[in-house]
Amino acid sequence: MADYDLAIIGGGLNGVSMARDAAGRGLRVILLEQGDLGSAASSASPRLIHGDLAVLERRAFLRVRTALAERDTWLRIAPHLVRPMRFAIPAHSDERPPWLLRLGLLLYDRLASRSGLPGSVTVDVTHHPIGYALKRPFGTAFEYSDCVVDDSRLVIANAIDAAERGATIRTGARCVRADRLDIWRLAMIDRGRRQVITARALANAAGAWTASVAETVLRTPPPQAGAVQISQIVVRRLFDNDNVYVFQNADRRLIFASPYERDFTLIGTVGHAFKGDPAIVSMAAADVTYLCDAANRYFRERVEPSDVIQTVSGANLVMGSSGRRAARDGAMTFDARRGKAPLLTMFGGDVTTSRLRAERAVSRLTPFYPMSPRWTATTPLPGGDFAWTKFDAEVERARERWRFLGEGEAQRLVSAYGSRLAAVLGDAKGRADLGPAFGPELTGAEVRHLMAKEWARFPDDILWRRSKLGLTMSPADREALAALMATAV
Ligand SMILES: Cc1cc2nc3c(=O)[nH]c(=O)nc-3n(C[C@H](O)[C@H](O)[C@H](O)COP(=O)(O)OP(=O)(O)OC[C@H]3O[C@@H](n4cnc5c(N)ncnc54)[C@H](O)[C@@H]3O)c2cc1C
Repeated sequence: MADYDLAIIGGGLNGVSMARDAAGRGLRVILLEQGDLGSAASSASPRLIHGDLAVLERRAFLRVRTALAERDTWLRIAPHLVRPMRFAIPAHSDERPPWLLRLGLLLYDRLASRSGLPGSVTVDVTHHPIGYALKRPFGTAFEYSDCVVDDSRLVIANAIDAAERGATIRTGARCVRADRLDIWRLAMIDRGRRQVITARALANAAGAWTASVAETVLRTPPPQAGAVQISQIVVRRLFDNDNVYVFQNADRRLIFASPYERDFTLIGTVGHAFKGDPAIVSMAAADVTYLCDAANRYFRERVEPSDVIQTVSGANLVMGSSGRRAARDGAMTFDARRGKAPLLTMFGGDVTTSRLRAERAVSRLTPFYPMSPRWTATTPLPGGDFAWTKFDAEVERARERWRFLGEGEAQRLVSAYGSRLAAVLGDAKGRADLGPAFGPELTGAEVRHLMAKEWARFPDDILWRRSKLGLTMSPADREALAALMATAV
């Protein structure tokens, strides 16, 4: 008998979503991630949970409706990680006539009919806070509802849920060889040690590595896919409201500028073909300039490439050669030859439909195992067992219980841990009860929690994925954090 029913290569959003789905349906699951969970493309998404206006423009109405239904699902199952926002598109007729945009948004509202989020409206920005950050010529904007997500914490939340349902999650474990018999025999290097396991089915969810894993590890034909990268920039906060701005760029692409970690703005995306090692995806200077120019066309405050605090880039495979369009779709193939153990391959796709993709992928295994029915759409992710309309109440409750928390800090903690915040803060009465401090917000208690319950091993795992506190932490605090983590391993 094989050690596991399903082995998954890759701890990005696709891998962990499949692990969660399959573990909850009663399969014995192991997931192997060579680095940290979500350390590649899944931490570099546009962070949007949306029907996608660009898809609407392509008249793929069914896809928009499906994605908007998934948006509702996320609000139900992850109200801490997925937050509704008002999006604002300044209107002008250079790229699309305003009447067409307005019509499109009315259709978008109709396709999202059950969501409970406010519909689209026309706003006179000369007298509206949306307009304060914009250049003078913009008199009107259209405002509509969509959501933003903490993509890397979504990966972690899926992994936690999978583990709590029995899945084995191994980080720092690289799959180096997989032999396909009537079961899979996998060799991995786990923190320097070679180990062999067996599994009845295998999922290749190695993101931009999917083709090289197919060729060199599984020795199966690689998918006919090309690599594409997307990039974004982080700059200081450019506006004081909580809206996401959507700018029509001169090339007709939509550029998003979102509030990011309280003091910053995330601007993106720009994408193109990628060549090279997916572990090192960097942003070209021309792409930085492209996003600065896009922002400067609309915002009063100028953004120069020298203002960029951080660049965020990720690569993944896309089927065929149609670039970003295919990236949103994602790809899934299922190979179940007679006498050979089944192979699922999944890569790309957007965050919004990741739960559904995983559900469909795992469902392909139903002829092979007895499995309980689909469940992930109705069961909250860890910490998500409250209504999305009660997020502010959850923050208030946290501030009443832990009186030393500031407003912004409480919001960060509730966004990250939801109703499970007590697992981090316990019965602390003051900061001193939470151990050493690393900067104004990160405490020894949180670090311990992340190491014990969320697979954090190195400072970057905490500073850039389980939080974004790396944006504001001083070098001295980083060193102190590294020293603590080194002794805790
Ligand atoms: C071009 C592009 C466009 C995108 N557009 C959108 C968009 O419009 N909207 C949106 O929401 N998101 C978008 N995304 C991001 C999207 O979030 C990710 O593509 C998605 O999260 C799926 O990631 P993944 O799990 O396939 O890959 P990844 O997150 O890259 O995960 C793959 C993992 O496999 C691991 N791995 C590789 N080889 C091995 C091995 N041998 N053993 C163990 N582990 C291994 C890697 O370390 C990595 O962590 C886009 C991404 C790209 C690149």
